[in-house]
Order: sequence, then C-alpha cells, then structure tokens
Amino acid sequence: MKFALVTGGSRGIGRAVCLQLADMGYNILINYKANEKEANNTKILIEEKGLLAEIIQFDVADRAQVQTVLTAWIETNTDKTIEVLVNNAGIREDALMMWMKDEQWDNVLNTSLGGFFAVTRVVVNSMLMKKYGRIINIVSLSGLKGLPGQTNYSAAKAGVIGATKALAQEIGRKGITVNAVAPGFIKTDMTGDLNEAELKNIIPLKRFGLPEEVAHTVGFLASKGAAYITGEVISVNGGLYS
Ligand code: NDP
Repeated sequence: MKFALVTGGSRGIGRAVCLQLADMGYNILINYKANEKEANNTKILIEEKGLLAEIIQFDVADRAQVQTVLTAWIETNTDKTIEVLVNNAGIREDALMMWMKDEQWDNVLNTSLGGFFAVTRVVVNSMLMKKYGRIINIVSLSGLKGLPGQTNYSAAKAGVIGATKALAQEIGRKGITVNAVAPGFIKTDMTGDLNEAELKNIIPLKRFGLPEEVAHTVGFLASKGAAYITGEVISVNGGLYS
C-alpha cells in the first residue's frame, strides 16, 4: 500500500496537499503537532475520497520524538510504503532582527529546517531500499528573496532550499527526486493577520493564492510525469518575485 506522508497536514496548505495526493490515489499519513480536531477533519475528507488516512502526531522540531514515532510506524506497517514525503510543517514568528528573541530564532529554524532533517532522515531509508521516492519541501518566497522582519524564517527556508539541492544530488541515482515549492502569499491561518487588500497591489495577479494552487504543483512534482525534475525550486506566487 502506497502512502504519502504530509507534515502539518491538519490545516492550510498541508491539508490541500493531502487531498491532492489522495486524488492521485495515495493513501495519506497526516502529521500534525497540536490541532487534533483539524487533523481528524483532514482524515474524514480523505476517507470520503475512498482512500486510507492515518494520523501520526509528532512535533517535527523534536528530533527524538520524530525518530521514535516515525520509526515505530514504519516497523509496524511493513505492508505500507511511504512513497511521497511532503515536508510542509512550518511556523512564522516575525520580528526585526534587533528585537528577535532566542526562542523566535530557534522555534522557526527548528521547525522548518530541523523538521526537514529529522523527518527526511527517517523516511529516506525506506525510499532508498525501494529505489523510488518523491520528496517535496514547502519553502517560501521569503527563502528566495529574503523579507524584512523574517530573518529567522528566510534563513530557515533558504536552508531547506540548499538542503533540497544537496540531497537531490546525493540520492538521484536511487530513483528519488527532491524538489521544493516556494509559495508567495497564500490564504491560510498563517497569513490571517496580513492585510490582503493592501498587499495584493504588489502581486501581479492581484490576489493571494489558494492552498489548492500550491497543492497542484506539489501533485505535479509527486507524479510520474515529473521524473526528470530534481533539485528544483518552483515558485507559486502570482508573479510576485522574479
Ligand atoms: P498553517 O499555519 O495554516 O498550518 C501549519 C501546519 O503546520 C499545521 O498543520 C500545523 O499543525 C503544522 N505544524 C506547525 N508546526 C509543527 C510542528 N512543529 N510539528 C508538526 N506540525 C507542525 O500554515 P500554512 O498552511 O500557511 O503553511 C504551510 C507551509 O507553507 C509552511 O511551511 C509555511 O512556512 C509555508 N508557506 C506558507 C505561505 C503562506 O502564505 N501561507 C507562504 C510561503 C510558505 P497543527 O494544526 O497541529 O498546529
């Protein structure tokens, strides 16, 4: 049975990615950190499509917890294979650098960059044995361009972009592709505090994007048709950055 693991699959872009991959025939392993209710809602939506959905709770920033929980799942589910991994879990804790607290720096780096490392390190082993896999990392315009007030977030996402390119070269010969998707402003809880009416003026397409629009690109990278794309970053940002 083929599964896709989506970190932060309880809400926002992660939920849309879960549904997109289910539409492509994947059973889904939904990870979340705290919001069990929303993880359950994602599960129900997947099951309505006739696919299997399992919830796996862990904090991607907690390396030991990731190792224990994910390894246990892999060892007890020998009939199931994680063929697609989407490293989506991420947080924002914006502050100007001169006022940034240690926790703001650490939390953001440990979640996006640390989470990528902790989860991928475990999952890639079984992909290497199967000689097939798709790893897709959700990064950000902020990691490409840098955004003021987000030195922590820009650093975390730029770090994941570098790791994407390095890992793609390490494991390409084993039939595993590693790519990143860099959204601009997408309508989710994460951007709920931003003023779309004002910010849309700087976006060529004059609106925020939808989680489903990011999920379609993830779906493409997870598809067989994307077999010759690796180490790439695809922007989904309404033309905001070029
Ligand atoms: P949301 O805030 O809507 O959802 C975040 C998701 O990540 C939730 O499912 C949350 O779980 C999960 N999560 C957060 N921290 C952890 C953790 N430590 N361990 C496990 N899961 C965790 O965010 P978005 O959907 O907007 O963002 C998804 C990704 O896209 C992030 O990586 C973000 O940086 C990136 N992105 C988003 C943009 C946007 O405009 N929205 C733009 C560019 C990039 P729970 O529900 O349990 O809290």
